[in-house]
Amino acid sequence: MKTTLIIGAGGVGSVVVHKCVMNADVFGNIVLASRTLSKCEKVKSELPNAKIEVRQLDADNTPEIVSLINEINADIVINVALPYQDLTIMDACIETKTPYLDTANYEHPDEAKFEYKLQWERDAAFKEAGVMALLGSGFDPGVTNVFCAYAQKHLFDTIETIDIMDCNDGHHGHAFATNFNPEINLREVSANGKYWEAGRWFTTEPMQVKMMWDYPEVGERNSFLLYHEEIESLIKHIKGVQRIRFFMTFGDSYLTHMKCLQNVGMLGIKAIEHKGQKIVPIEFLKTLLPDPASLGKKTWGKTNIGVVFNGIKDGERKKIYIYQVSDHEECYKEVKSQAVSYTTGVPAMIGAKLMLEGKWNGTGVFNMEEFDPDPFMQELSRQGLPWQIKEL
Ligand code: NDP
Repeated sequence: MKTTLIIGAGGVGSVVVHKCVMNADVFGNIVLASRTLSKCEKVKSELPNAKIEVRQLDADNTPEIVSLINEINADIVINVALPYQDLTIMDACIETKTPYLDTANYEHPDEAKFEYKLQWERDAAFKEAGVMALLGSGFDPGVTNVFCAYAQKHLFDTIETIDIMDCNDGHHGHAFATNFNPEINLREVSANGKYWEAGRWFTTEPMQVKMMWDYPEVGERNSFLLYHEEIESLIKHIKGVQRIRFFMTFGDSYLTHMKCLQNVGMLGIKAIEHKGQKIVPIEFLKTLLPDPASLGKKTWGKTNIGVVFNGIKDGERKKIYIYQVSDHEECYKEVKSQAVSYTTGVPAMIGAKLMLEGKWNGTGVFNMEEFDPDPFMQELSRQGLPWQIKEL
């Protein structure tokens, strides 16, 4: 019987536990470890018939992770804590020769910059340990990378441009809230935009570039160009691609709140002095904002995340859109979480399932698009994320 260690008991971690339990024949014993034990216990209490062990763990501390992996003899580690913990958890996996998976690339807490460099640098160590690390097995990155691999394999001879289109049309009744970890989310969306074209990077001001896009089952929404991490790996692995951009929808109220918070310094990531105490503004803001995991019950509406491709097939020009629509209330009914956590947690489970089954295997550090997309695409439809292909 396998043992699966899941680190992080937040919105995404909760979905991963639910979905691993639904696939218990593959995942075996489930151990959920996180900083706050009560959060692990809450997830466990939602699944009274499942075999789940819970543990308190400081995932910033590699020796602590190593000793837990050794004690429970984990066959895989699913990291759904925060991007700050990616390296400490990867190092524990190298030391214990344990396969590793995450959903977001490494960020240093003191610098709002995310890139794969430090994770890719661990490729030789994973090879030497004889195990694999799968990076970015969420929705975006994650499913969007698999859509690109699928388009490259089945739909195009050459892909010229890729636009990743991310829409969350969820409503929760709060004036302002984020749909996943507020600190990580706000660092991402308040940063400069960046895209890749003709072999070089172009930088924009935050929210400078926008376009209207008609999202099936949602409608037309303003979509803003952001930098997103999958661009960095896709430019390496999608042969011949000329341009890759990433767009996300934001409503007017969200943008107004964010601008205002930014203008008054509440998105700052450096510690400031307040009445003799050091506080980091964005961490304090996180404390004030609703916990995204608590929004599940109240959220309604849909998400639609997909990829638009332009390219050539059999000498003909083609434009194809692959997308997935999820309904917040349906997700909540199934796993007690809203669709943003659901659409991240399900692909994390699928990536881990394919690794444990040996369908995706190798030694070293990999991004999603490096593997055969077909088994992943089949699992998406089976495990609650059916996708559509539309010729435009
Ligand atoms: P949450 O903040 O809800 O959950 C994070 C969990 O990690 C919390 O339970 C937190 O503990 C725990 N944690 C934080 N630091 C530590 C630590 N040092 N040791 C142990 N546990 C720790 O975040 P989400 O669930 O919304 O997001 C989880 C991950 O998923 C993030 O990396 C996020 O970037 C990624 N993500 C990826 C997406 C994709 O499509 N690829 C989309 C959305 C999210 P505590 O409860 O004590 O705070």
